[in-house]
Amino acid sequence: MKNNNFLVALLLFVPIILLADTKVKELKLILQITVDQLRGDLPDKYMKNMGEGGFRYLKEKGIWYKNAHYNYSNTETVVGHTTLATGANPNIHGMVSNVWYDREKKRLVYNIEDKDYHILSKNADIDDSTEVDASQALAGTDGRSPSNIMVSTFSDELSLFTNSKSKIFSVSVKDRGAVTLGGHNGKAFWFSKTSGEFITSSFYYDKYPIWVQKFNDKKLTHRYSNQPWVLMYDKSKYMFGDSDDNPWEEDYAHYGRVFPHKYGKHDNKYFNHFLTFSPAGDELTLDFAKAIIKNEKMGQHDVTDYLAISFSSTDYIGHIFGPSSLEAEDNMLRLDKTLASLFKYVDESVGLENTLIVLSADHGAPEAPGYLKKLGIQAKWIAPLAWNKKPSLLRLEKKFGVSQELIQDFFPPYLYLNHKLIKKKGLNLAVVQKAVAKEIMDIDGIALTVTSTELSNNSLPNTYLYNAALENFNAKRSGDILILFEPHCFANDMDGGAIMASNHGGPWSYDTFVPVIFAGGHIKGKQIFTKIRPNDIAPTLSAIVNSKMPSGSSGKVLSYVVESLSVE
Ligand SMILES: [Zn+2]
Repeated sequence: MKNNNFLVALLLFVPIILLADTKVKELKLILQITVDQLRGDLPDKYMKNMGEGGFRYLKEKGIWYKNAHYNYSNTETVVGHTTLATGANPNIHGMVSNVWYDREKKRLVYNIEDKDYHILSKNADIDDSTEVDASQALAGTDGRSPSNIMVSTFSDELSLFTNSKSKIFSVSVKDRGAVTLGGHNGKAFWFSKTSGEFITSSFYYDKYPIWVQKFNDKKLTHRYSNQPWVLMYDKSKYMFGDSDDNPWEEDYAHYGRVFPHKYGKHDNKYFNHFLTFSPAGDELTLDFAKAIIKNEKMGQHDVTDYLAISFSSTDYIGHIFGPSSLEAEDNMLRLDKTLASLFKYVDESVGLENTLIVLSADHGAPEAPGYLKKLGIQAKWIAPLAWNKKPSLLRLEKKFGVSQELIQDFFPPYLYLNHKLIKKKGLNLAVVQKAVAKEIMDIDGIALTVTSTELSNNSLPNTYLYNAALENFNAKRSGDILILFEPHCFANDMDGGAIMASNHGGPWSYDTFVPVIFAGGHIKGKQIFTKIRPNDIAPTLSAIVNSKMPSGSSGKVLSYVVESLSVE
């Protein structure tokens, strides 16, 4: 490099570096918001009736990446939240599915269950008889911790960078929405649908902080007792105002398919569940988040603090009614209000100019098959174990001398084979995997079956689906056969009856597409259509606070965000 070039380079870069360092001293709080099941287009779809200060603030003042996609196949809650927290994909962070088969424990396990760290409250464990979340109901213990996350989170790196001086908190209705983002050194709280309280486990505390006890003693859930969820505006204002009742919507425990949705009395066993199937779940989460900010004096330290909030209502409502429903539409308007209230509170307590907000989602949202069909778009529910019938089993029997017994367990998207039996019979695992995979592949609506042997050998064609399967493949946790459905084909329960309005979890763009928005500080509004991955969030946050990247991160630093924060 010639000397004068060097001088120009010096003049160009030195001021930016100085400003960046000045800015970091002012960054008091990173507020990471996750909306469960918020497909990238949904805020715009419903923005017409939104107020000021929520999504409209993010749109006008934020950097909004409008083409952000996950690139692994299993777009489920724990997978997405962990990817947001770590910048890694499930092949690396290990949270390959909400549920996987643990070959040591010889059973299906729930992603964050941990028998060594029990929850601190009595009578607050999952009640299997009322739990709508089939994955949670599989947990073999009430204990929860982030131990299964195999890499560091951004919040871990922030903690390491400041020698634990940064305060790190997370809250969600869902345990896995909080535990993932809280990382290994933060404090996570989640909502017990059994007790109606925000709870935590002994991984985080020996006993509850006094302010948490006081918060729970207020019994804020009771303000919804005997109240209904009603529409915010007159029906005529809504896109879906004239189609409240649809046959594909689910009437869970008599919650009903039409407004008003009655919560019932607070001592009804479904009461807290109904709150989470409505904007009330997010309103309660907001109350707890405000209590964290106030009582832990978030953003009042000489280092950057971190608060993660995951709002779960959008996911429950999407599953029960679909994202194109009157319920989803009203929920988005209510979520908008919840966000506006949160941003106002943060502005008053910390100052939005000292706060970096980042909002994204753990996965997108498919349209309900019933709704798609009404619009003339092909869609269907399929029973993924439809192959598990006579002709297929006879073919396997003929080949291997056994059939049904070869299957150890099944939880979408993975099928697990009985390795012990295969060994005992002297069979070749790869051959059995391939034969079972072929039988499943023959079902109408299956796009791809791929075996763990094929993925380990990595001898597969370089296509979108195989790559998405590979990004989801962790040798210790993934099953023997990964089953992927065609677009707009969905797995229902094993008996063939649809159990919800819609179900996400596939590799298609409606499931992979999420918003990624940065706001606060000195950021100015801009929409960016360059394709990025939500994995980019964690390393970008690391770059902003100058820490090292999370240990498994495959994301890139969104340098435009870093520069925008730095320049007055
Ligand atoms: Zn979901």
